[in-house]
Amino acid sequence: MTQGSIARAPTLLDGAPWIRIFPVRTPTLPPATHTNVYLIGDKRLCAIDPASPYEDEQAALDHAIAELARAGERVAEIVLTHHHVDHVSGAAHLAERLGVGIAAHAETAARLRGRVAVTRLIEGGELLDFGPGGLRALHTPGHAPGHLCFVDERSRAVVAGDMVASVGTIIVEPDDGGDMAVYLASLARLRQEEASALLPAHGPPIADARARIDFYIAHRLEREARVLAALSVEPRAISALLPAAYPDVAPAIYPLAARSLLAHLLKLERDGRARRDGDAWALA
Ligand SMILES: [Zn+2]
Repeated sequence: MTQGSIARAPTLLDGAPWIRIFPVRTPTLPPATHTNVYLIGDKRLCAIDPASPYEDEQAALDHAIAELARAGERVAEIVLTHHHVDHVSGAAHLAERLGVGIAAHAETAARLRGRVAVTRLIEGGELLDFGPGGLRALHTPGHAPGHLCFVDERSRAVVAGDMVASVGTIIVEPDDGGDMAVYLASLARLRQEEASALLPAHGPPIADARARIDFYIAHRLEREARVLAALSVEPRAISALLPAAYPDVAPAIYPLAARSLLAHLLKLERDGRARRDGDAWALA
């Protein structure tokens, strides 16, 4: 794991140099180790997901933002894609340091109450005044209830938060507002944007946006089919369903896979194809 030097510079997105990418080390889900902070705008910037709780990483971001300010590019607002700890943990520090507010969806603000003070609510469809064509907020719940993507209207690159990742996987955690059916619907909604690139929170930009979204949807539906095939008329515990539903996953990953399995079962229950019997699950 690399400790970032304080003098790191953001990377500019090809063809859209008002979009700057600054990865910071975060307590995220392995194999991912970093979360991308996006600094977007021309003279007036937003900082999307200042994510790191670590002092050295916060200092590196502070330094990069100070360098931009010296060139007349000032961060005017902090924006959050969703409430997860690997996206918001530098927000309070940066807000205080810069004297700027924090904007997020109401569902995100509610989940951060007492930890991060959200000062402005963003609704889906809202156009934020950052970049040459503005940034349009897209409400994409499922991974998290308040999840927002941001469409850069000039380049059609989409800041995708945790809808997709180019390093690591996206977890849908039912106990933290995750909902598989809603996530799938949001992926379909994101697909309609015909993005020129997806800018994920974890990993480098994704050029083949539509193909990647199709892959994600196909992957989830394939998993759903495996889950359905693992069910029988006799109720079985989630631990007993795991090997059949996740044959491609090492047992060390089962605790995580169990959460995802539950998300699939809850969707199948709503679809009328699975039924719950205490902690066990059977075909409906
Ligand atoms: Zn997340």
